[in-house]
Amino acid sequence: MRRWNGWGDDSIETSLPPRALELLGALVGPGTPPRDATLDEVVAAVPASRLVPDARLDLDPGARVRHARGQSLPDWVALRSGRLGAVPDAVATPASAADVADLFPLAARTGAALLPYGGGTSVVGGVTVRPSDRPVITVDLGATSGLRALDATSGLATFGAGTSGPQLEAALEPHGLTLGHFPQSFEASTVGGWVVTRSAGQQSRGFGRIEDLFAGGHLETPRGGYDLAPYPASAAGPDLREVVLGSEGRLGILTDVVVRATARARLERFNAYLVPDWERALVLARRLAQSGLPLSMVRVSTPLETATTFALAGDSRATGLLRRYLGWRGLGPERCLAIVGLTGNPAVVGSAARAVDDLARGSRGVAGPGIGSAWRRGRFAAPYLRNALWDAGYAVDTLETATDWTRLPDLAVALARSLRHGLEAAGERVHAFSHLSHAYPTGSSLYTTYVFRLAGDPDETLERWRTLKTGASRVIVEHGATISHQHGVGLDHAPYLIAEKGALGFETIEAVIRTFDPDGRMARGALLGEAAP
Ligand SMILES: Cc1cc2nc3c(=O)[nH]c(=O)nc-3n(C[C@H](O)[C@H](O)[C@H](O)COP(=O)(O)OP(=O)(O)OC[C@H]3O[C@@H](n4cnc5c(N)ncnc54)[C@H](O)[C@@H]3O)c2cc1C
Repeated sequence: MRRWNGWGDDSIETSLPPRALELLGALVGPGTPPRDATLDEVVAAVPASRLVPDARLDLDPGARVRHARGQSLPDWVALRSGRLGAVPDAVATPASAADVADLFPLAARTGAALLPYGGGTSVVGGVTVRPSDRPVITVDLGATSGLRALDATSGLATFGAGTSGPQLEAALEPHGLTLGHFPQSFEASTVGGWVVTRSAGQQSRGFGRIEDLFAGGHLETPRGGYDLAPYPASAAGPDLREVVLGSEGRLGILTDVVVRATARARLERFNAYLVPDWERALVLARRLAQSGLPLSMVRVSTPLETATTFALAGDSRATGLLRRYLGWRGLGPERCLAIVGLTGNPAVVGSAARAVDDLARGSRGVAGPGIGSAWRRGRFAAPYLRNALWDAGYAVDTLETATDWTRLPDLAVALARSLRHGLEAAGERVHAFSHLSHAYPTGSSLYTTYVFRLAGDPDETLERWRTLKTGASRVIVEHGATISHQHGVGLDHAPYLIAEKGALGFETIEAVIRTFDPDGRMARGALLGEAAP
């Protein structure tokens, strides 16, 4: 079962290796495990729903609590402390586009706002329910999951929007197909959520981002159904898929998604290299991204992230041997880990791997045996560490951006500085480290993780987060980088959208939302950041 106040399946427990705890203690100070509210306590405090019973609505307080929040840090603070602030008045679980369409008259009659909920993995407040004078109905798309149609000849597969990553891949596998979209939230996030947040999977270099994979689909809007035909390409004016991509539940509810699937690769490898320092690592990442080689992933960590990764790997005999080997090869504490994904038919993968080896050698890189396959095994497990860190008294959050290769080095320095010194006034230290998660010919994303101590008072923890997030967001905007490369806008990035889109661009987005939703049936807040009515 899904953990109600943390990440993932609650039968999976993850612990931190003693070496990682020691490192954190030294870097930010000893953590004090918090006293979390229990589910029973939180459910008992849920106010009565403002909606009257209806066969389409679940008014059960437990269901409402489970749908009140997503995975942002403010969501975690609220769930763990039990200070939820607001919960939806009801949860609807439509199973079809017709069921979704049926919710709009209900919303109009009751004055309720509809808030779509895919996997609830938003890390930017996308599914967060805010206190409001209007009732809120969270619309959980889980019951729409499943493969609806498959045109294997064209590689077009139609899924219910609430289909999760594992469900989607399991449905394609018997047909020899894959979507290849593997965000780290794969196990819980949904295809509809991916589309409306412009998600990027870990191997987007090879398979494409969701905007490349989203061919069309069906949206139920307050003004009726809207179909997007899955043309292979079209020159018929602006592409309205682009309007739906990144729309974050503001235009209506995506019920069906047509995706472009591809044949499963016969060979997939993740080769790892250690490069002596960050300057060389940046050059390697850029050369790989500009090489034209058929790579599915280029991921390069800063020295601090590399050291943290080794600490988290624990003190096994293998990691000890690897450390000694790297020291012997002259790679000291400034070493950076690069992982390169190679996916395709064996001949293509073989020749690309040789070319990657050459490029890595050009940056004085040394192959890191076993690291790539270890990364692959743990690729969806890392978020579980967030549970263990919280239990040990530490908050962990991530933020991401993207910019061109020219501006990237300065941005990385400024972001790290902003986060590391962000809590000095409060007498707290922050451990912040980054990697390039998605490299493109013209630039790269920069994905930063930051860890700080929980305060005794949840409001103080939230204040620490707000200070760090605001400082980092300002740095991103000042450097001309995007406020989000993959997590979307939600509530948390909404104040910065106007800086990125400009006044005219922002007005255009407002106008599109008004066109689809003139009477404000969809919940406000995400993207535009309006106050709750
Ligand atoms: C541990 C972790 C790792 C992550 N890693 C990645 C990553 O590698 N790459 C990445 O891109 N993102 C990542 N994310 C962010 C998140 O998983 C993505 O934003 C994802 O696309 C959200 O999908 P979801 O189904 O969970 O949507 P939700 O969180 O349920 O919703 C997100 C937004 O979309 C709206 N929405 C959802 N479904 C619909 C629908 N059918 N119709 C209309 N609106 C809808 C919601 O109202 C909300 O505004 C990560 C998150 C976590 C917690």
